[in-house]
Amino acid sequence: MADDRSENTAGGIALMPVVAAALLDARGRVLLQRRPSGKQMADLWEFPGGKVEAGETPEAALVRELGEELAIRVVPAAMTPLAFASAALGAKHLLLLLYVIRDWTGTPQPLEASALAWVAPAAMAELAMPPADVPLVAALAHF
Ligand code: C5P
Repeated sequence: MADDRSENTAGGIALMPVVAAALLDARGRVLLQRRPSGKQMADLWEFPGGKVEAGETPEAALVRELGEELAIRVVPAAMTPLAFASAALGAKHLLLLLYVIRDWTGTPQPLEASALAWVAPAAMAELAMPPADVPLVAALAHF
């Protein structure tokens, strides 16, 4: 585990804050990445993002994660918070906050994922996604 200091304890439950992006293209498709085989939640399709580290704002964490995972540059002003969801993750509880992003610099590269795909929100029901990502798909329905 990278750093437990970013986890808060509420009522004995360790909360893990995670941020993710719905990168929207001009056709209303959203970028999903496939988690590598052999990693936690292997082969599931997720919104790119990751854990908010100690001392980071959610926006700064998402700027960092999108650079690390996709090699794109995003500015916080281009991020619109859309919805959040939570899911149990072992003994922890993951809180996932999803931002819509329409503007970025660079072409997304799968630096950590096994694959990238531009997917229409209506087609996401066909894909296996992590538990916290699944309820967020509905929030994208009107895009
Ligand atoms: O990518 P990272 O390891 O920082 O992600 C932290 C946790 O958040 C992992 O357990 C990962 O499975 C989860 N996660 C998720 N949905 C996402 C991104 C990350 O459930 N879209």
